Amino acid sequence: MALIVHKYGGTSMGSTERIRNVAKRVAKWHRAGHQMVVVPSAMSGETNRLLGLAKELAPSAHNAAYSRELDALAATGEQASSALLAIALQAEGMQAVSYAGWQVPIKTNSAYTKARIESIDDQRVRADLNAGKVVIITGFQGIDGIGNVTTLGRGGSDTSAVAVAAAIKADECLIYTDVDGVYTTDPRVVPEARRLHRVSFEEMLEMASMGSKVLQIRSVEFAGKYKVPLRVLSSFTPWDIDLAEEASSGTLITFEENEQMEQAVVSGIAFNRDEAKISVLGVPDTPGIAYQILGAVADANIEVDVIIQNVSKDGKTDFSFTVHRNDYAKTVELLKGSVVPKLGAADVVGDQRICKVSIVGIGMRSHVGVASKMFRCLAEEGINIQMISTSEIKTSVVLDEKYMELAVRALHRVFDLDQEADSIA
Ligand code: ADP
Ligand code: ASP
Ligand code: MG
Repeated sequence: MALIVHKYGGTSMGSTERIRNVAKRVAKWHRAGHQMVVVPSAMSGETNRLLGLAKELAPSAHNAAYSRELDALAATGEQASSALLAIALQAEGMQAVSYAGWQVPIKTNSAYTKARIESIDDQRVRADLNAGKVVIITGFQGIDGIGNVTTLGRGGSDTSAVAVAAAIKADECLIYTDVDGVYTTDPRVVPEARRLHRVSFEEMLEMASMGSKVLQIRSVEFAGKYKVPLRVLSSFTPWDIDLAEEASSGTLITFEENEQMEQAVVSGIAFNRDEAKISVLGVPDTPGIAYQILGAVADANIEVDVIIQNVSKDGKTDFSFTVHRNDYAKTVELLKGSVVPKLGAADVVGDQRICKVSIVGIGMRSHVGVASKMFRCLAEEGINIQMISTSEIKTSVVLDEKYMELAVRALHRVFDLDQEADSIA
């Protein structure tokens, strides 16, 4: 008997028929003798629908002033889907109970719309499990220190599931979604993408942070920190397939780097269109510039990604960086209002039509020339690189967003990811 956490994404919970299928699958696992905790997302489209309603009432509803209410609103999507799943399980003859985040409780900080989990109380869950119940816990949400409902950022149910798995020391956390595993890149963009049978935790971390939305980055961080065995698999297989077959399907996130993995130089390509570029022009090239610009941005709780400072000319330089598109207007406003006048900079300009494409692979550690192969490939396609950032196991470039698909496909081909041979599986 094992203690298992299942997470079901929005599409997997997208209709009453699909919820019934989830219930049948979970019941199959429970009847096989496992203790089951299930973390569902809201039904597909529901979070967008709710946030859309807020926008109808207040066009600037994305502003921080509304964020407490946005979280109270968005969290209802998961509350509904969790209760529906409990009802479906009960209709299957199972004992099931659903809890909202605050009932567990899942405690978070107060950073509305992007809150971080601080602790999870496992007592109530354990008592129910010991009483033979299936426990359903809403994804995506928690409660802060003063009793307000918070949400964990888009895609946050992945993080809820892994955090719950860590808190209850589950034997495995299975992330059921609308693709049958982690691919070399998004299979919806590159049909030639291959499923990886295994992917190292470090590669998954980079892929998620570079934009592969199959797992929210924080969920991978939790899995790494608490060594939660994690698997991504399809919820669209028939619910009654053999349990052992299901349990070994999909993609396993591993914590060991085996020999086969080392052979792959690049294991995957991630991309995102979620960022915007901001340049502060004509700043004096003196010590403390980066701190004055980025310190102010960080104080406003805005995350900065790629940073570039150009060589100076006549004692002045340009300083560029990227932020999430949702933070673009706020960042420009902040810089124009205080930082630019203080620094005596010439201007702030921005570009929201950019994308970031990244190649990821632990093999990059032991191979030279990987980045130059990437740059050559992009040059041959006539794609201009605006910014570059590297780490030990990834190289990212910022490009005009119109080239995103072309760049991803070309790189996928150049790094031999299109081929049938499974280089790291
Ligand atoms: P869920 O609602 O189940 O959380 P998401 O839409 O958040 O599902 O994530 C699954 C989607 O992630 C897939 O449908 C796919 O389009 C996308 N995706 C992006 N990169 C990858 C990748 N490398 N491998 C698999 N899927 C990916
Ligand atoms: N329902 C939330 C969202 O749409 C959380 C999730 O699906 O993981 O982002
Ligand atoms: Mg998701």
